[in-house]
Amino acid sequence: MNGSEHNPDGPESEVRQHSIDTIAAIATPPGQGGIGVIRISGPDAATITQQLCGRLPQPRLASLSSFLDGEGEPIDSGLVLYFPAPASFTGEDVVELQGHGGPVILGLLLQQVITLGARQARPGEFSERAFLNNKLDLSQAEAIADLISSGTDTAARAAQRSLAGVFSRQVNALQEKMTGIRVFVEAAIDFPEEEIDFLADSDVLERLHSAREEVSHLLQEAQQGQLLRDGVVIAILGRPNAGKSSLLNALSGVDSAIVTDIPGTTRDVLREWINLDGIPVHVADTAGIRATDDPIEAEGVRRAHKARSTADLVLLVMDPGDELLPQQELLREVEGVSPVIVVQNKCDFYPSPASLLAVDRPTGVAASRQHPTREVQVSALTGQGLDRLKTEIKAVLGATDQPTGSFSARQRHVDALRRAGRHLELGERRLREDHAPELLAEELRLAQQQLGEITGQTLADDLLGDIFSSFCIGK
Ligand code: GDP
Repeated sequence: MNGSEHNPDGPESEVRQHSIDTIAAIATPPGQGGIGVIRISGPDAATITQQLCGRLPQPRLASLSSFLDGEGEPIDSGLVLYFPAPASFTGEDVVELQGHGGPVILGLLLQQVITLGARQARPGEFSERAFLNNKLDLSQAEAIADLISSGTDTAARAAQRSLAGVFSRQVNALQEKMTGIRVFVEAAIDFPEEEIDFLADSDVLERLHSAREEVSHLLQEAQQGQLLRDGVVIAILGRPNAGKSSLLNALSGVDSAIVTDIPGTTRDVLREWINLDGIPVHVADTAGIRATDDPIEAEGVRRAHKARSTADLVLLVMDPGDELLPQQELLREVEGVSPVIVVQNKCDFYPSPASLLAVDRPTGVAASRQHPTREVQVSALTGQGLDRLKTEIKAVLGATDQPTGSFSARQRHVDALRRAGRHLELGERRLREDHAPELLAEELRLAQQQLGEITGQTLADDLLGDIFSSFCIGK
């Protein structure tokens, strides 16, 4: 990688065999399974297969074969699939060997493939070659990794849509739209005598405005997609015995936390994944917060505060039968750091508790103005109010109610869209306030560059390398 930019619009943009070496890897996860797959890609894939299997099977037809070692003895037997370039995943000659799924047998087979001339693939190298050979753009290649690691079925479907190009197509349509505006603006710069007309022509401003709206719409969708991909962290906080562990169990539907009426039972931070209408949520149940002389419990309280500080949202669980003052103090401490939902628990027992938000609270807490604290009554015991709590959680996290139509996205996509939006905004201002079409043209170019980073058209090679190296081996 030399840090230069990859440009698929260049003369060599057609599918090309850019690699001189042939790569191979075990493509199935470690451990034992009915089958295990070895993937080979590159110019020597066919000759390696001929030596390993004694013949090359017909393209794209599964055939049964022995896999032979250097002495002609079978290491294993299974199916061979041959995909000649360019009609393959990577765009190169690809062979898949489907043997038996044991780590030793697959290791032996891979070793023989390497002896015959391949080298062990780096993480993500198959996807990287697919990208370099224009089989996929970057966001689609990322979607493969996201599909494999998706935490919920909704996230998996979203990743599938990204892989199918739903996200890329919208990015490309925006690129075209901006190219259209650029052509118009640059023509006006080239013919300055007509510039006055051009500037008076509100059509450019309208087109710019509509492009900005599209970017902001796409940004919202991408944020949903990121939520589905990355999930969120919620910390459950509260005084001992408020019902934190019961709430975690009720939300997750699993009895993972110990529920007792002895205060101070939860001493460590328990973590549980729950599926909140498709959003993977990492819930941390923490030790009850109170002053204590017990060193183990004190460590639990310290960890509870740490979990709180890294959470996207805090659920502050209250027992309405508990003293009000320490609960108010706890709320005061938490507010302003993360968004908070006060969960008045045990509503089966206390049907109309005093609101914690009604009491005097400090003013001027910046974060609480940005994320006003909400209050919900639930019963972790009977399940009453849990749906309302989930709705409030989604509202705080900015999740729409129907994430089913969305695609998956990553933080870097969201950041690029944000930057693209800012360049368009600046460009619009340059034209409107400074009457400077050349500055608008430059902002448009920068906005397009940002969009190009999403699909990988304008991303520096070293950043590309970083992205692919985060994938698994064999991907
Ligand atoms: P934690 O210390 O905050 O984790 O509290 P637990 O979840 O261990 O609960 C403490 C006690 O409160 C247990 O005896 C629970 O059965 C009881 N409890 C928890 N939630 C509810 C609820 O919604 N209603 C009632 N009536 N009791 C509850």
